[in-house]
Amino acid sequence: MVKHNLWHAAKQQLEKAEKAAKFSPLFIAQLSQPERIIELSLPFFRDSGKVEVVRGYRIQYNNALGPYKGGLRYHQDVSMDEVKALAFFMMIKNAVIGVPFGGGKGGITVNPKTLSEAELERLTRLFTRGLAPNIGPTVDVPAPDVNTTPKTMSWIADEYSKIVNKKALAVVTGKPIDKGGSLGRTEATGLGGVYALLQVLKKMGKNPKQMTVAIQGFGNVGRYLAYFLQKEGFKIVALSDSNGGIFVPGGIENIDQIQKCKEGKGYLAGCYCIGEACDILNKDKLSGHDISNKEILELPVDILVPSALENVITKTNAPKIKAKIILEMANGPTTFKADEILNKRRITVIPDVLANSGGVVVSYFEWYQNMNNEKWTKKEVFAKLKKKMKKAVNEVWDLSQQQKISLRDASYAVSLKRIEEAHNKNQGKKQ
Ligand code: GLU
Repeated sequence: MVKHNLWHAAKQQLEKAEKAAKFSPLFIAQLSQPERIIELSLPFFRDSGKVEVVRGYRIQYNNALGPYKGGLRYHQDVSMDEVKALAFFMMIKNAVIGVPFGGGKGGITVNPKTLSEAELERLTRLFTRGLAPNIGPTVDVPAPDVNTTPKTMSWIADEYSKIVNKKALAVVTGKPIDKGGSLGRTEATGLGGVYALLQVLKKMGKNPKQMTVAIQGFGNVGRYLAYFLQKEGFKIVALSDSNGGIFVPGGIENIDQIQKCKEGKGYLAGCYCIGEACDILNKDKLSGHDISNKEILELPVDILVPSALENVITKTNAPKIKAKIILEMANGPTTFKADEILNKRRITVIPDVLANSGGVVVSYFEWYQNMNNEKWTKKEVFAKLKKKMKKAVNEVWDLSQQQKISLRDASYAVSLKRIEEAHNKNQGKKQ
């Protein structure tokens, strides 16, 4: 299998944007590498008393628009190139959605599923101590990403507060509600994706009712996305997680039930639910099929949602995709070559930097509430999120129509223009 390099893809996207518009050479040079790279060696004790060493990263890509902002992921495949690319995508995302943040990303190369909670806490606190000189509410504000949770964030906030000797809630977002988190943050990425999709469908003049959807990934993002899509009348026909999935052509009845089944077993495969009874034996009654993570991408559906990891839509499977709309809830799910194929095939791709920006929008709301000692209701949070998603989709959509470019290229154009303006202003201030 070809191993795709996400950093290479990010650079290709930047080159493409650079060709399409005139940016100053200094600005482009600035964006071609991250501003700061932090790489840490993290030796920690396993519960057995054995010492293990893993590597941790934080990439601070660019802060022209505000403090660096982006998640921390714990995964065995985390690498320098991956986090560099993801930090670059965060920079683009924050600018296109209109939050006053630059881009950052980080992670630890570790499989958290092999660690106990005590081990995870020790490792996270150690990571925080390593990062402490370079993060802070007005400097760099991490958040959850793949395999990190509100609990992870609460350890970071706690450890960081001890180091600086004061309560510094706004050093991270995505915290538990009783530890300074915002209502609605957990659902935000999924719900934001629904708002983005609804707005694009409105622009396309399409009715969402009964449109069929396949979702790859049933983590924090995919799960809420599925839930809210179903509430809006979409028909969810297929779901998968890293262990495989289910295809129910007549539509999956109840997303909450699937969630309960997954929680019980630890994975989603075989969760064929009728009412509260979830059992593989219901498969035939539902005319269901077990499907792999690869197969889910090629199902005959209206909307395909990659909502797990990067590089899953490649030049090999892009020609076989049957969906007419792709909602990218994962970061970087489509390779550069695959994107060209999808564009040629006139498949509408709602790009990651737009589709999954709901998470960082509510992260901004959380940060704002922490900084200003406010507490917003969930209703307020969702209303503000909806407004932001609609505005960004409209801007991107209109530009894509005017210039006859893809929604991805339009997102990059909107975003880079904003970053360049801020960059020029900051340069002016320095002189
Ligand atoms: N990890 C999320 C993302 O990729 C959220 C980042 C944040 O809230 O800062 O957008």
